[in-house]
Amino acid sequence: MIYWDYAAAAPPYDEVARTVEQLMRLHYANPSSLHRAGAEAAALIERAREVCAAALGVIPGEIRFTSGATESNNLAIKGAALQYTNRGRHIITTELEHPSVYESCLQLQSMGWEVTFVRPDEDGVVKPEEVAAAVRRDTVLVSVMHVNNEIGSVQPLAEIGRAVKAVNPRTLFHVDGVQGFGKLPGGPRDFGADLYSLSPHKIRGPRGVGLLYVKEGTQLFPLLSGGSHEGGLRAGTENLPAIVAGAKAVRMAAERRGEFVSRILPLRNRLLAFLRNIPEFSLNSSEEGAPHIVHFSYPGMKGEVMARQLEQLGMLVSTRSACSSKLAEPSRVLLAIGRDEHAALGGIRISFGDEHTPADVAALEQALLGAVKALKIAEGGMR
Ligand code: PMP
Repeated sequence: MIYWDYAAAAPPYDEVARTVEQLMRLHYANPSSLHRAGAEAAALIERAREVCAAALGVIPGEIRFTSGATESNNLAIKGAALQYTNRGRHIITTELEHPSVYESCLQLQSMGWEVTFVRPDEDGVVKPEEVAAAVRRDTVLVSVMHVNNEIGSVQPLAEIGRAVKAVNPRTLFHVDGVQGFGKLPGGPRDFGADLYSLSPHKIRGPRGVGLLYVKEGTQLFPLLSGGSHEGGLRAGTENLPAIVAGAKAVRMAAERRGEFVSRILPLRNRLLAFLRNIPEFSLNSSEEGAPHIVHFSYPGMKGEVMARQLEQLGMLVSTRSACSSKLAEPSRVLLAIGRDEHAALGGIRISFGDEHTPADVAALEQALLGAVKALKIAEGGMR
């Protein structure tokens, strides 16, 4: 079996897994305890914060640990909305966002906030001037993702950040950096972001930890009540093994980005060229997109049917993002970029990791040809 689903979850580095196990055994003390073992645990968390801050080019006090990027996104959006009701109740986001952003905005909408959803173009890119045109005096927050998790399109974040602040300097700018970090250059400061979310398990770190960069001076309304952990922003005993191992993965992803891209880009480009030559497929990704995601449709064919066929041929792929894959409806993202319902039902996402080789891509190409052939022989009965 070849695993092509790194954008959903990447296998942890050996040293990440080792670190989790060692820390679970050695540093079980509660970091809030005042005895020596507690102080040691607390020091490890502060060290992890420094490591993450260095990798992101920010200061340690601006890093908050959460349980994952879903929580980071919820905290950024609802925390800002609830904190700054005195500034207004208007939020801007895009049609492309991950459910943790999109649904947070819909929830606020149901509670009386006004939300503007900016549409991307047919390549899945939003225009900075369109975002800026939506900004008003009462716009509290703009949330835009770096790389779309489904089709891999990349947003011009620095331009969007500048354009938003030019209209309203008090409007906060949140970036969901989950699929961009370690793949593309730029961090929160480059984008002019006030808030920036990350997920270590997408970069070969452990599950159960997320990061939220909160620019110095930005306040958020905490979503969890309890102790004063994480600067009072996120109550609950810290997941020390995941935090420390997650910081390791963040550092490694930043250090290895260049090497990763130079390995993966030729493989990604080869696959795109191959897919263009198969008349049954229509591509939803391009060379302009992030280096690790390729998405295509087999219009009229459900993504799950194609994915199952590929699995029988030894390839593990996704239909869209893992978080939406159990939905039977057409993909919201594909509809937003103007694909029709047929194409939006039939998506396949291939996502690369640093372990893939040219031989893996050759095997995938053969499997894709085999899957098309098998599905055609099945007489379109499933179509
Ligand atoms: N944002 C994006 C763009 C993602 O791809 C994901 C993971 N599917 C998330 C947020 C949520 O991350 P987590 O799995 O850490 O909750």
